[in-house]
Amino acid sequence: MTEQKDLYKGYRDPCLDLMKRFKVKVWSEVKACTRRGEFEGLLLPRSETSDADHLVLKLDSGYNIGLHHDTVLSLEETGYREAHYKIPEKEFPVDPQHPRVKLFGTGGTIASRLDYRTGAVIPAFSPGELYGSVPELADICNLETEKLFGVFSENMGPEEYLILAERVAEAINEGYQGIVIGHGTDTMHHTAAALSFMVQKPPVPIVMVGSQRSSDRPSSDAAQNLVNATWAAAHGPIAEVMVCMFGPTSDRYNLLHRGTRVRKMHSSYRSTFRTLGDIPLAMVEKGTIEKLKDDCAPRRTDREVTIRAAFEERVTLVYYYPGMQPDVIDALIDSGYKGIVIAGTGLGHVNRKTYPALERAREAGVQMYMTLQTLWGFVQMHVYETGREILELGVVPLANMLPEVAFVKLGWAMGVHPDDFDAVQRLMTTTVAGEMTEREPHDGYLVVQGGVPEVKKFLAGVWR
Ligand code: ASP
Repeated sequence: MTEQKDLYKGYRDPCLDLMKRFKVKVWSEVKACTRRGEFEGLLLPRSETSDADHLVLKLDSGYNIGLHHDTVLSLEETGYREAHYKIPEKEFPVDPQHPRVKLFGTGGTIASRLDYRTGAVIPAFSPGELYGSVPELADICNLETEKLFGVFSENMGPEEYLILAERVAEAINEGYQGIVIGHGTDTMHHTAAALSFMVQKPPVPIVMVGSQRSSDRPSSDAAQNLVNATWAAAHGPIAEVMVCMFGPTSDRYNLLHRGTRVRKMHSSYRSTFRTLGDIPLAMVEKGTIEKLKDDCAPRRTDREVTIRAAFEERVTLVYYYPGMQPDVIDALIDSGYKGIVIAGTGLGHVNRKTYPALERAREAGVQMYMTLQTLWGFVQMHVYETGREILELGVVPLANMLPEVAFVKLGWAMGVHPDDFDAVQRLMTTTVAGEMTEREPHDGYLVVQGGVPEVKKFLAGVWR
C-alpha cells in the first residue's frame, strides 16, 4: 500500500493542467490545435477506463478521438454544451395487418448507449426508445417489447436461460408470430444453444440479435441487425432458434445462423458470427429472405412447443493445453463437478499425464465428453492410440458438436435427467437441435474461411 502511494506522490494530471491553462472545461466545445492538425469537438469527461494522458473529443461525425496532451498546442473554447443523451420515446404504432412480434431485451451493446457522464457504454433499454431510434420497425410488425435483464452478456448464465426459456414459451402461447431477443454478442452463442435445447420445435422463429457497435456510432450495426432480425421473426419461414447478424463486412445483408452451430469469431468485426461445420440457414436483406439450406424447420400455425427448461450448474468446459497436469481434473472432481466437456486437440486428444485423473473422474461418476479445439471436423478417437486410450477411460466423443454447445447441452441434459447417468449419455449422443451433423459441407468450410485460389476469387467477387 505504502509503495503504491509513493509511486503516485507528486503525480500531476497533465490533461487537467492543460484544461486549466487554456480555461476550458468538460462539456466545452473546443477548437484544438495539435501537432497532428486542428480538431473541433466536444470535450468529454474521462471514462473509468481511459488513461490520464489523453483528452477525449467527440467530433461532429460522432467519433471520439483521444488527443495526447503532449501534442496539444492550444485549446480554444467556442461554446459549452452539456450533453444529455436521450433517444426520443415514441409509442409504437399498431397496424392490424401486421404480425405481432415480441422483443425481449437482455442487455448488451444493442440495448446500450454512451453514458456521457462517464463516457462508458451502459446498458439501457426502453421500448419507446427503440422505436424512436429505429422507426422502420413499425413497417415490419407490431412490436411489443419487454426488458427481462439489462446485463452485458458475460453475466448471462443458467438462471437467465431458464427465465428466458419460460418467457419465450409464454410468448408463443400468447400467439406472437415471432420472437426477437436482444442480447450481448459475447455469449450470444451460449444462450442460443441453451434456448435451442430448452425450447424445442417452436412453431415460430426465435431470432437472437445484438450489435458490435453501439447505436450512437455512425458505423453501428444495431439498426440493420434489429430490422433484419425483426423481419425474420415476423415474416421468415424458418421456425428455429437463430442468430441474425451482419453477413459480410459491408452492410449488404444479414445471415441467419442455427443456434447450435453459430459462434462469435471476431472481437470487433460487425460480421463476427459464423456458422461452423455447416452453412448459414438464410440471408436476410431489405425485406427478403433467401434460404441457403433446405433442412430448416418450417414456420407453423399451431402453438405447440416442447419446453425442457433445466440446468445443472456443476458442469464445466476444460480447454486442453499441452503440458496439462492431472490436478486440473482432480480439482474439478474434488469440487463436486458432475460433468466435464473437454476441448481436445486434433481428432480429440489429451496428454497421457491426465489419464489417472480421468480414471478417477470416471470412478467418481463424473460424465466426460470430447469435443474439438479445431471447431471444424469430427472427433475421431479410433484413429490414434491416444484416442482409443481416452475412449477406454470413459470419455465419450461428440461428433462435430462445438465445445461451448456441448458444455451448454451437458448442463441442460443433466438438469433434465438428474442422477440418471445413462439417460444423460443417450441425450448427449442424440441430435436434438442440429448440434451434430452427418457431415460437414465442403463449401461451408471453404467459403467461410477462405484461403484457397477459387475461394479468393469467390470472396473478391461475391462476398465482399
Ligand atoms: N460486451 C458486450 C456483451 O456481450 C458486447 C456486445 O454486446 O456486443 O454484452
